[in-house]
Amino acid sequence: MAFQRQQLSKRVIKDLQKRSTSGVLFYMLVPPILFFTDGYINEHLEISLTFLGIFTFICLFRLVYVHVSKKAPDRQTSLHKAVFIVSILLTALAWGLGAAFFLLYSDDRTIHLLMLICTVGFCAGGVMSFMPVFYLATAYNFLMMTPAIAAVFIKGDMPSLGIAMMLYPIYLVLISLRGNNEYWTALENEHLLEEKTRELKKVSRTDVLTGLYNRRYFDELFELEWGLSSRRKTPLTLMICDIDHFKKVNDTYGHQAGDEYLKLISRLLGSVFQRDTDLVARYGGEEFVIFLSDRDADQALPLAELFRKQVEKAVLEYKGEKIQTTISLGVTSCVPGPDLNPDRLITLADDALYRAKDAGRNRVVVDTH
Ligand code: GH3
Ligand code: MG
Ligand code: MG
Repeated sequence: MAFQRQQLSKRVIKDLQKRSTSGVLFYMLVPPILFFTDGYINEHLEISLTFLGIFTFICLFRLVYVHVSKKAPDRQTSLHKAVFIVSILLTALAWGLGAAFFLLYSDDRTIHLLMLICTVGFCAGGVMSFMPVFYLATAYNFLMMTPAIAAVFIKGDMPSLGIAMMLYPIYLVLISLRGNNEYWTALENEHLLEEKTRELKKVSRTDVLTGLYNRRYFDELFELEWGLSSRRKTPLTLMICDIDHFKKVNDTYGHQAGDEYLKLISRLLGSVFQRDTDLVARYGGEEFVIFLSDRDADQALPLAELFRKQVEKAVLEYKGEKIQTTISLGVTSCVPGPDLNPDRLITLADDALYRAKDAGRNRVVVDTH
């Protein structure tokens, strides 16, 4: 659970960045409206401009920093997170101290009222935005509210307002605690769902016995690779491999032994066709299909031979029995063009495979269409 939370915390930081951006824009708009609309700035120019300057600078820094750090490859480092968190807390402190200052310094009731209303509103907005990280929401809440509450008490003319304001941060803590729980539960459920979907996707692509891709997924990939080779005008090779006399293996040693032999073949396939771009799949019962991009028949034939020889000498030890058989392979290559399509190539490889069977098995036949 702790590990999962650590994994998710990266997502949470990203989410916080998104959540905080609209708030910062709002913070930048409100103070000029407060100071300019009823002419307060004309009477208290210096102090209004100082507050506007400091506050706007912090907000701008936050906006630019979020924007720049989004593009930084190392944006999840502790330093980036620390700068992001500290800049948020600085906004709260700057506003809290500013509000306290105007309450104490100015005798203008209107600015007191406006500052207090904005403090309460900003605080609620901030707590809602930062609730995914409880300590951040709480610190934000107290940094913004405490100076304003202290100023109300120092001023002393509205004690009942001071008491009401003291209860407000506590109320916000309770709300943010609940919201935090709900946020994390939703996030963990979403993560779980994503994991399950990934697992399900993997299962739907995989052959259970061998762990190779299954036919359905191979067909999908083959279609894509075909398109790619067609655009690049590069060659590709398709091989179909069938275990010789496999029915006899089953009949002699049992179906489970046959299963183990299929697993052995899939391991050998993995050891021969090793490139990331080599696609190997179980195509049906005891048939496997191999797709090699960027390889023509001359390059593919040695690999097919190598695989055939490896199978020929491989011995499966199963319950004291030594099981050994061979494979036949049909190989076809082409540069995709209008006269060919994936289905046709599979038919050509299949025909080559059956010629290999007819010619006595344990061999590779290359199609020469
Ligand atoms: P050939 O050389 O002509 O290919 O002969 P063969 O015996 O390999 O071919 P045939 O088509 O007669 O038999 C294929 C056998 O493969 C029959 C089937 O029971 C077996 N088979 C198919 N899928 C599985 C599987 O998942 N596990 C096991 N153990 N056997 C399987
Ligand atoms: Mg077969
Ligand atoms: Mg067979």
